Amino acid sequence: MHRATKIVATIGPASSTPDVLLKMIRAGLDVVRLNFSHGTADDHRQRAEIVRECARQAGREVAIMADLQGPKIRVGKFENGKTLLEPGQPFILDAECELGNDERVGLDYKDLPRDLRPGDVLLLNDGLIVLDVSRVIGSEIHTVVKVGGELSNNKGINRQGGGLTAPALTAKDMEDIRTAMSIGVDFVAVSFPKNATDMEMARQLANIAGAPYGIKPKMIAKIERAEAIPALQEILDSSDGIMVARGDLAVEVGNAAVPALQKRMIRMARESNKLVITATQMMESMIHAPVPTRAEVSDVANAVLDGTDAVMLSAESAAGKYPVQTIEAMAAICLEAEKSEQSELDKDFLDRTFTRIDQSIAMGALFTAYHLGAKAIVALTESGSTALWMSRHWTHVPIFALTPREASERAMSLYRNVTPLHLDTSSDRDTALQQAIEVVVSKGYAARGDMVVLTVGEPMGQPGGTNTLKIVRVGDVL
Ligand code: PGA
Ligand code: MN
Repeated sequence: MHRATKIVATIGPASSTPDVLLKMIRAGLDVVRLNFSHGTADDHRQRAEIVRECARQAGREVAIMADLQGPKIRVGKFENGKTLLEPGQPFILDAECELGNDERVGLDYKDLPRDLRPGDVLLLNDGLIVLDVSRVIGSEIHTVVKVGGELSNNKGINRQGGGLTAPALTAKDMEDIRTAMSIGVDFVAVSFPKNATDMEMARQLANIAGAPYGIKPKMIAKIERAEAIPALQEILDSSDGIMVARGDLAVEVGNAAVPALQKRMIRMARESNKLVITATQMMESMIHAPVPTRAEVSDVANAVLDGTDAVMLSAESAAGKYPVQTIEAMAAICLEAEKSEQSELDKDFLDRTFTRIDQSIAMGALFTAYHLGAKAIVALTESGSTALWMSRHWTHVPIFALTPREASERAMSLYRNVTPLHLDTSSDRDTALQQAIEVVVSKGYAARGDMVVLTVGEPMGQPGGTNTLKIVRVGDVL
């Protein structure tokens, strides 16, 4: 069965042995996320090596995404590791406090008091604890506990409505970008960007750090700040894709606003020819249980119907009890949801104009394949952009993207409805096309007599060079 929606899974202690990872890849893992909020450079390097080894064994490419920690603001540590906050009690966040107790705790972002005013609401530990700011005196933020609970070391802080000024890239992020480039990752996810400038800066750093390794990673903006919402279009324009980072986003804009924002983000990303990943708590209960809840099944299916490129796992695969089963369950939900998805290709096309030759060929191929009922589209591509354009519109025709470039092959593993495959460069055009058709037939997607739509650039080997559309029946001489 051909699954269009891709699966991104965070790896961690529960999923770093070759045995488990190989099973995860066989179950449908497409992109591995390395979470730079946890672990050392060596941990990430070792995990990346295991991923590559397992991908080799499984016989397909798996992309790697480095997710930077970003300026997540956190409380410091406590004498006893934690405190219990009761509603109505005063509590102080103190930038100068070394070790916390039942009255106060330190802050890792020393400038936080400058950003706050009486009346501000702070959400700690993903919104489980709520503090009302009553006064700010020097380094001290005086608050009254509104919703209490246990607060332990290093828990995150958000302000309701957003607006904290911590810069998007920390010194740690810059160091982590260098580590990620030396590992050779395909994607870099930037946490908490507010605008295009944050993404441009991250890209520049990644390109500079990647240059010695010949790497230009694709940049993913995590949309998780209230300020990023009005800046969404400029963030999309400066990125290769976005992540609907529902965890922090929900804390800043309120839970209830997130589902509609998810739909808008996915739609805008696709209309802008960008990628989109839907993330956080998708299969949360599977951290402990071997089956998902009905609500989680619906959540994953709805993200598919919204048109996301990928659904993502965090703790479920990094630290959960059932990493392999979670991927199996997610893959099955995606497959089923895709069956019911309607194509709106004609409607999508009405207000589009194409100025580029390669883009026009890509769109022509998609339109033709859809209306002629072709069994597959085969795109011979260097950079992967033809496959990207085709994949921004949903049809039930699978897209096979054949490329001689390994980096393009890995990056395309995130593109919805695209199966990246390796193409031998030494062959001429007709041999390459013949080889492409054979791959599609050998995988069972088309049989003798079926129609297949092909795109290719002549001469071959030039990025952006796609200029030819060819419609063939399998078995015909090319
Ligand atoms: P995180 O990002 O897991 O790195 O916090 C995702 C989110 O906030 O939803
Ligand atoms: Mn986050």
